[in-house]
Amino acid sequence: MVDPGEARPVQDYLAQEGLTLVAILATHHHPDHVGGIAELVAMKKVPVFGPKGEPIPELTHPVGQGDKVEIPGLAAAPTALAPSFDVLDIPGHTRAHVAYYGLGSLFCGDTLFACGCGRVFEGTAAQMLQSLTKLAALPDETKVYCGHEYTLANIKFARAVDPGNALLAAREERAQCLRDAGRPTLPSTLGEERATNPFLRCAEPAVVESANKYLGARASDPVRVFAAIREWKNKS
Ligand SMILES: [Zn+2]
Repeated sequence: MVDPGEARPVQDYLAQEGLTLVAILATHHHPDHVGGIAELVAMKKVPVFGPKGEPIPELTHPVGQGDKVEIPGLAAAPTALAPSFDVLDIPGHTRAHVAYYGLGSLFCGDTLFACGCGRVFEGTAAQMLQSLTKLAALPDETKVYCGHEYTLANIKFARAVDPGNALLAAREERAQCLRDAGRPTLPSTLGEERATNPFLRCAEPAVVESANKYLGARASDPVRVFAAIREWKNKS
């Protein structure tokens, strides 16, 4: 289980699917990501992985960049190798935020969202951009499991920043269909994010131009462009 903000939906899902909790992975210390951990480990003692630089009292395995998380109970068959996840440091939203990458999937908490990114609370714009750039280097087919379903609102903003992007218009249609059917838009893929997420496209001329309009100044430095569209999004 990644980022259980509450225990009850996790317990319900485990019961409904006949699954057993084997480990908890936390990406950062915000209560809407860790608020359910105490109750879950009281019910069943499982390892709790999370960023070593953040105050999460229930952690049993503090982790950081370069560490590998191995979860034996997740093996698909007794003979299969236990899947492992690489830990990536991605500070910016919080000071020691981490992501987990493995099995072709990325669990990135509140750093990269579908067509958006998290707010910069404890780090700097430069750090956040560096973290996003690190995630963007993963393979195109990587499944992106982010922390919140903000996709439609994010696409609406992205269309203001990158109005000529036809892939963005197509993405909005797909996302709207999914939400109308009561389904999540997640996971997305990194290929899709690189093509449509303005926060991963701070060097694209169209995004630079929009940032300059917002700033009322000429700036091409990606950190300045990123900071401008992040501030614009906060106000929108
Ligand atoms: Zn958060």
